Amino acid sequence: MNQKTYSVVPGLNMGLFSPKDLEEIVTIINKYNVPMTKITSAQRLALLGMDEEEQKKLKSELQPLIRPVATNGVHYVQACPGSQWCKFGTSDSLALGARIEQLSFPEPLPGKVKIGISGCRMSCTEPYVRDVGIFATKKGWTLVFGGNGGGNPRLGDKIAEGLSDDQVVDLVRKCLTVYQQKAKYKSRSARFMERFGIDAFKEAVLSE
Ligand code: SF4
Repeated sequence: MNQKTYSVVPGLNMGLFSPKDLEEIVTIINKYNVPMTKITSAQRLALLGMDEEEQKKLKSELQPLIRPVATNGVHYVQACPGSQWCKFGTSDSLALGARIEQLSFPEPLPGKVKIGISGCRMSCTEPYVRDVGIFATKKGWTLVFGGNGGGNPRLGDKIAEGLSDDQVVDLVRKCLTVYQQKAKYKSRSARFMERFGIDAFKEAVLSE
């Protein structure tokens, strides 16, 4: 067993499994004697300590139970249980996450984009330190852009608040389009916002 072999299975429906799906996943994992598993911060399933050939076979068996990899360049969309499952939730973060996962762009995005969506202002998915952060208040959705939780952290800038589902989806599309058109290759949104400036960015995304 190679302790260092590490493989990530993409797309587990924003961290949600039905008990039946979970049971099937565990059955497959046990069949291949996976030494250890981990749910990553991106809410994906990591398989640890496996032989490479065995990983390939296991992944093909898991395929029907996982979501396809997003082709829009978004690294991940993380959504909390929201109003569907959490007593504090005022808005449906899971449904919004599913819509935002479907956004597509004509060109690849310049850098990794992590999106965090929270169904109330307690912000369990840490939206202020995501490239795109969204949280609900009683007035609607608030959108922040340009946050980062890495080695050079930055709080995102508030772009708009009191948004409906349609308005926030549209504004996410506009923010990522401006980022795609104006940011340098490999520049994360936090560094882009420091260079581009919040005023110019707001003018670009809110002017229509
Ligand atoms: S952000 Fe609010 S709705 Fe979402 S899990 Fe946390 S407390 Fe619940």
